[in-house]
Amino acid sequence: MKRISIFGATGSIGQSTIDLIKRDQGSYNVVALTGGANIAQLAQDARDLSADIAITAYDDRLPELRDALSGTGIEAAAGQAALIEAAARPADWIMSAIVGAAGLAPGFEALKHGTCLALANKESLVTAGPLLLAEAAKHNARILPVDSEHSAVFQGLVGEQISEVERVIITASGGPFRTWSTEQLKGATLAQACKHPSWDMGQRITIDSASMFNKALEIIETKEYFGLSPDQIEVIVHPGSYIHALVGFKDGALMAHMGAPDMRHAIGYALHWPERRDLPVERLDLAKLGSLQFEAPDEFRFPALRLARDVMQTGGLAGAVFNAAKETALDLFIAGRIGFTDMAELVEQVLAQMSLDLSHQDVQISLDMVYEADAEARARVLSLQARA
Ligand code: NAD
Ligand code: MG
Repeated sequence: MKRISIFGATGSIGQSTIDLIKRDQGSYNVVALTGGANIAQLAQDARDLSADIAITAYDDRLPELRDALSGTGIEAAAGQAALIEAAARPADWIMSAIVGAAGLAPGFEALKHGTCLALANKESLVTAGPLLLAEAAKHNARILPVDSEHSAVFQGLVGEQISEVERVIITASGGPFRTWSTEQLKGATLAQACKHPSWDMGQRITIDSASMFNKALEIIETKEYFGLSPDQIEVIVHPGSYIHALVGFKDGALMAHMGAPDMRHAIGYALHWPERRDLPVERLDLAKLGSLQFEAPDEFRFPALRLARDVMQTGGLAGAVFNAAKETALDLFIAGRIGFTDMAELVEQVLAQMSLDLSHQDVQISLDMVYEADAEARARVLSLQARA
C-alpha cells in the first residue's frame, strides 16, 4: 500500500488527484488531506478515503471540520503548524497542490522526510528553487514535476542526458486574451480573465494564464527544475494545448509530448512513476484535430514574459519578489481595485525598487531571506497601489 498525502486536496489539482486515487482505492493508504474554506469537500473526501487526518488552513474553521468528521475517528486540525506537522507524517508520495507561496513550507518539510514530492506548486520552485532542490538531495527525497509542461519535459528526458539538450520549448495556450490589443487588455474584466479556452483550473492560475504570468512562472520553473540556462528556454503559443512541451537535442531533433489538456496525465505520471499505468484521459484523434496552430509569444502585450527573463538574469531573491508581487497584484485585481494591465506594472515597479538588494550573488540564500523578500514585495505592492 502506498501511503499518500494531498496538500491542497480541495482544489483543482487536489480533486483530480483524488479522482485517480478513488479509482484504485485499495492501493492507497491516505495519511493527510488539507484544504481551505471548503470544509464540506474536505470532510467528504477524508471520509471517502478514510484519511488519518484532515487539516484546514483556517483556524476559525476547525469547529466546523470537527463536526463534519465526528464519529469517524479521523483527526481534525487547523492552521500553519498543523500543515507542517502533517507534512512530517511518514508518506511515500505527497502531492503539493496548495496555490501560491503558501505551498512552500509544507513541501519543504515533506522533503526533510525523504518522501517523493509531486510538485504542482510551481511557486515553490520560483521562490526557492535552489533551496528546495538542495533539501531534496540532502534527504534523498525526490521532486516530480506536476505542471503539464514540466511533466512533458521530464518524460521527454527519460533515457536522455541533460547535457545533450539544446533547448526546451514550453507551450502556452495564449489564454482568453491571445488576440487582444493592449488597449483592450486594459479593460479586461475578472469574468473575462476567468474563462480559459482549453484548461479547467483554479481561479488564480486561470487569471495568471490570461496575463501570461503563469507562463512567466513556468519559464523560471523550467530553469530551476532542469538546471537549464535562460537562453535554452523558449515559449511558443499553441492555442489547442495538445503539445505540452518539446525537448530539442543537439542533433536538431525535437521530441514533442502530446496529450489531451487534462491534468490527470501529469498527476498520474507522477503518481505511478517510474511506471506507466492506464489513465482515464481522452485519447487524441489526430485526424480529427487536423492541424496544430503555433504563434510567437508577444512580450509587449504580455510583459510578464519579459519580466521572467529579468528575474532569471537577476537570480537570488528575484523569484520570491516576482511571485509575491504577482500574488498581491492578483489579489488586488480579483478585488476589483486595479485593472488587468496594472498587475504587470506593479510587479515591474516592485522588482525595480528592490533590484539592488535582490541578487545576493555571494550570499547563501536562506528560507528566512525568501520569506522576508516575499513579505517586503507584498507590502510594496500595497503601498504603491495606495499611493496611485
Ligand atoms: P485551487 O485554487 O483550485 O486550489 C488550491 C488549494 O490550495 C485548495 O485546496 C485551497 O484550499 C488551498 N489553499 C489556498 N490557499 C491556501 C493557504 N494559504 N494555505 C493552505 N492552503 C491553501 O488551485 P489549483 O488550480 O489546484 O492549483 C494548485 C497549484 O497547482 C498551483 O500552484 C498551480 O499553479 C498549480 N497548477 C495547477 C494546474 C491546474 O490545472 N489547476 C496546472 C498546473 C499547475
Ligand atoms: Mg502549466
